[in-house]
Amino acid sequence: MNDLDAYREKARAWLESVAPTFGKQAREGMSEDEDLATARAYQRAKFDAGFAGINWDPEFGGQGLTPLHKVIFEQEEMTFAMPNGYYGVSLGISVPVVMRFAQDREWARERVIAALKGEEIWCQLFSEPSGGSDLAGIRTKAEPDGNGWKLNGQKLWTTWAQRSDYGVIIARNDPNLPKHKGLTFFWVDMHAPGVTVRPFRLAAGDSHVNEVFFDDVKLTDGQRFSPVGEGFKTAMATLMIERYTASDPAGFGPPLDHFVELARECEMGGRPAIEDGRIRSIIARTYAMRSGLEAITTRAMRMMEAGMEPGPEGSLNKLVSVRSRQKLSELAIDLMGSLGLAWDQDAWLKEDWVASWLSAPTMRIAGGADEMLLNTIAEKILGLPQDHRPDKGIPFNQIPA
Ligand SMILES: Cc1cc2nc3c(=O)[nH]c(=O)nc-3n(C[C@H](O)[C@H](O)[C@H](O)COP(=O)(O)OP(=O)(O)OC[C@H]3O[C@@H](n4cnc5c(N)ncnc54)[C@H](O)[C@@H]3O)c2cc1C
Repeated sequence: MNDLDAYREKARAWLESVAPTFGKQAREGMSEDEDLATARAYQRAKFDAGFAGINWDPEFGGQGLTPLHKVIFEQEEMTFAMPNGYYGVSLGISVPVVMRFAQDREWARERVIAALKGEEIWCQLFSEPSGGSDLAGIRTKAEPDGNGWKLNGQKLWTTWAQRSDYGVIIARNDPNLPKHKGLTFFWVDMHAPGVTVRPFRLAAGDSHVNEVFFDDVKLTDGQRFSPVGEGFKTAMATLMIERYTASDPAGFGPPLDHFVELARECEMGGRPAIEDGRIRSIIARTYAMRSGLEAITTRAMRMMEAGMEPGPEGSLNKLVSVRSRQKLSELAIDLMGSLGLAWDQDAWLKEDWVASWLSAPTMRIAGGADEMLLNTIAEKILGLPQDHRPDKGIPFNQIPA
């Protein structure tokens, strides 16, 4: 057994040992406050067991292992329905930025360790009503104010802002420059005067996303992460820091085996649905497609093992797997007939077809909308010409709204 296989076994054994305390069954019927308290205890247990910050610098509380070890742990963790959602953005996106770009290194060390222990949560304040796919379209303003800055504007879609202590934020410091310039990157205290967080409900019933308003929020210059006007470049660099994460060919929905089981139980025209040629063909096609995605993931992991960089083909994963999850969930609901109308808001996406179908559209947008992934595939894999960019080089305040 090589080192990585041994690590996988160790991770699985640990996860099995804590699943009765933190897994889905243990959390059934909990309020969000209770669930978050359990999630904090789970994150602390991970830290104590050496499974937090797996590929991070030991000086910042990490384990100093490779990104591959981290992906292996995530692949195992995914099958246990652990309460790790509260920390997805915090530890996956925002805290690595603090670790890399914070000016005060001792403060950064304290924040990173507190986040790894589950004591503090960070959000990512990038998207706005006027800037999502086109991040450089944002309008939130950071104006010089004495020795620091004053923040005004609105963010949208901020995951777990209502539970966050801090956020990383990008704001426009100079509207006279072209849109990719004139942006600066900061951190913000989510409890500072002038910060208002308003959760809103998604179709699947959960309210983990928010609108966040900033009214004359004061920032010190020490809260700046990027050189003035170079926030876009820094933001792009941050997206590359934690780029290796576990993918799931089922798009984080129910596995194909569950569909096969359902097709055995449900009837079509008085016969088990599994006997219908069209259903069998969909099963075969989904199997082939998911096997292809698995092959891409295996290839990427082998490349990482050999010290190489996986290519842009990883962008196929979310695009193809989430679309497939949405289609298969819809078909499963149809097969279930009137039972397909029953819906349990707390159901686990990997077990429940209705919950999986209802939340699939948001997954096709979050973390890069389908069309943006198609653009990446067109430009980076197929080598097609770049998308037309009519606002390139034009001062931001002269671009028609
Ligand atoms: C559940 C969820 C959680 C999120 N969490 C966060 C978070 O924590 N922090 C954060 O900052 N953001 C977050 N987001 C926001 C997310 O990053 C944006 O929704 C996403 O980038 C799309 O931006 P938009 O909503 O402004 O849509 P738009 O960019 O306006 O896109 C609308 C449609 O137009 C298409 N489109 C846009 N540009 C092009 C183009 N050039 N070519 C072809 N088609 C195009 C898009 O694909 C899409 O279908 C979250 C979103 C969701 C759904």
